[in-house]
Amino acid sequence: MQRAAGVLVVGGGPAGLAAAIAARKKGLPVTVADGAKPPIDKACGEGLLPGTLAALGELDVSIDHSDGQIFRRIRFIDGATFAEAGFTAESGIGVRRTILHEKMVARAEQCGVQLLWNSPVTSIVPDGAVVGGRAIQTRWVVGADGVHSRVRRWSGLDAGVRRQLRFAQRRHYRAKLLSDCVEVHWGRNIQAYLTPLAKEETCVVVISRDPSLRFDEALREFPTLASRLRNAELSSVQQGAVTATCKFNRVCRGNVALVGDASGSVDAITGEGLGLSFRQALALAEALKTGELRKYQAAHCWLARRPHMMARLLLLLDRFTPLRRRVLRAFASDEDLFARLLAAHVNETSPAFLAETSARLGWRLITA
Ligand SMILES: Cc1cc2nc3c(=O)[nH]c(=O)nc-3n(C[C@H](O)[C@H](O)[C@H](O)COP(=O)(O)OP(=O)(O)OC[C@H]3O[C@@H](n4cnc5c(N)ncnc54)[C@H](O)[C@@H]3O)c2cc1C
Repeated sequence: MQRAAGVLVVGGGPAGLAAAIAARKKGLPVTVADGAKPPIDKACGEGLLPGTLAALGELDVSIDHSDGQIFRRIRFIDGATFAEAGFTAESGIGVRRTILHEKMVARAEQCGVQLLWNSPVTSIVPDGAVVGGRAIQTRWVVGADGVHSRVRRWSGLDAGVRRQLRFAQRRHYRAKLLSDCVEVHWGRNIQAYLTPLAKEETCVVVISRDPSLRFDEALREFPTLASRLRNAELSSVQQGAVTATCKFNRVCRGNVALVGDASGSVDAITGEGLGLSFRQALALAEALKTGELRKYQAAHCWLARRPHMMARLLLLLDRFTPLRRRVLRAFASDEDLFARLLAAHVNETSPAFLAETSARLGWRLITA
């Protein structure tokens, strides 16, 4: 029997839509099936870093200034210690998750992706998958079904994982608490981070390793922030999420490939999850076009290296308070050093630049 030529993407979140758009741009017929319906919301810090915006540009998804709030700087705060640095080249933007989703759905529709909402995928079969109780025949199945991916389990790609889980709660406040910067507040084993959004709104996420984390309890770690939020009105329903740092041995098998959080993820504190997903989607489309999924496997490993290194560093700062305070003091006394690390984080630099910056950080830590 001749196999269908198309791609079935399981999951119409950001990664699934990016994979669908990228595959359509390569001329492949694409269907996306998601158990939910748009606009799909999810607890997220809602910060799009410069590299994320560049990847969205490659997918022809345009996010304009009126969709959110531009930010050019990142501020770290730990008690009385305070360090701030700006991006060297581009800026980022804070955008409500629902707006990003709407934009990506519109682009997918425009380029001819078939979208099936309220359509959960319940199994995969050798020639495709069962979608909303109906078998769909397809050449490729792409698992973009998030951190708890069932496609990953069904296709036996779950092996070899070491997960670091943390637990997050997100609120939106109708208040302009920041102008052009994202703030990360560091407490004992807990962070709060604030992203400015459009319409005088701010996204606030708290994250910790404690699964019983409560938002208001978390704020007690940050009295100054709590007082800034005290009179601000909530503008959405609070949502929780798990954020995982994990890598899998393989992200493809047979006619199945994984993308986005389904294929492994980095902690939310990196602000890199969306950008990484979009870059994976672009690499996957290239491989689907030529039928060489092993090239995607190699590209996936390469793309994950820098975000995972940064996730390790940031999680180390979360675990070891004395180290974090030393690092923050080093950043506070040398803004250029913080700016260089930020540039490395958003991939604006070369390996030589990163090596030189690490040496400079090492020296500062000895002398801080
Ligand atoms: C608290 C928090 C803050 C974050 N902050 C940032 C940030 O500021 N910047 C950033 O870049 N990243 C951030 N991230 C990471 C980012 O949110 C994720 O990397 C991103 O959501 C991954 O997208 P995805 O499409 O892979 O998964 P998801 O967004 O989880 O989408 C998966 C989709 O699959 C669907 N689905 C699941 N199972 C099935 C099934 N069986 N059949 C059909 N459909 C199915 C779901 O309905 C869903 O729509 C944050 C994450 C968290 C948890």
